[in-house]
Amino acid sequence: MMILVSAALAGCQTVQTTGGGVVGVDRPQTMTTLISSEEFNQKAAQEYRQTIEAASKKGRLNQDPAQVERVRRIADRLIPSTAVFRPDAARWDWEVNVISSNEVNAWCMPGGKIAVYTGLLVKLKPTDDELAAVMGHEISHALREHSREQYSQALAQGIIINILGAVTGASAVTQNAGQTVLDVMLNLPHSRTDETEADRIGVELAARSGYDPRAAVSLWEKMGRLGGSAPPEILSTHPSDETRMADLRVYATKVLPLYESTRGR
Ligand SMILES: [Zn+2]
Repeated sequence: MMILVSAALAGCQTVQTTGGGVVGVDRPQTMTTLISSEEFNQKAAQEYRQTIEAASKKGRLNQDPAQVERVRRIADRLIPSTAVFRPDAARWDWEVNVISSNEVNAWCMPGGKIAVYTGLLVKLKPTDDELAAVMGHEISHALREHSREQYSQALAQGIIINILGAVTGASAVTQNAGQTVLDVMLNLPHSRTDETEADRIGVELAARSGYDPRAAVSLWEKMGRLGGSAPPEILSTHPSDETRMADLRVYATKVLPLYESTRGR
């Protein structure tokens, strides 16, 4: 009964967040109408600001200028390619920062707020192509609004239900979203479907930006090898297995001509 009530309160609509691109990602998505993309992105931006300020206070923000220059240079090449999938992304207020942490992690919050952890750079020692692969993958989750979609599902299932919001209307639910964007992003594992979509769009973004899309395969293989008793944090939210790797190989090959066409520029 709870589920029915919440689903009714959490009005939904079917949307397409992105165009298909060469990789042809075209799954219709169900999104809540209680929180618009703009509101969700605003909440994400607030949380990003808090995260960045907290890192700064602890002396953990952008400590190594060479690392910062590197991830921003790669982002600057990837971001224009996002217009292929959604033109509005070019107008997002993109930010890219490096956080000092032993965690092997990187993420892109809704609306284009990127963080790369030094643990990923130091432990994984990615090539530029591999770094572009992981950043392209994270950016793709943001383009597809997977966090808002997960949030919508959680609302509909009553996993996230603010009783006050249910009584007083959408505004209280919206306020509650401020605490949960990062929670959703860092704690709810992406579904296999989300991973596949981010993998496919990610390799196309990389290829169009002049990065070898095949590096996505070696990147996630390297991630897997880091595993052992303490797998990288990023693998807990980005589940990986042989099926996923096989799909990645197919799509990296599919977008290879896009990469090769950038080589002559
Ligand atoms: Zn992912």
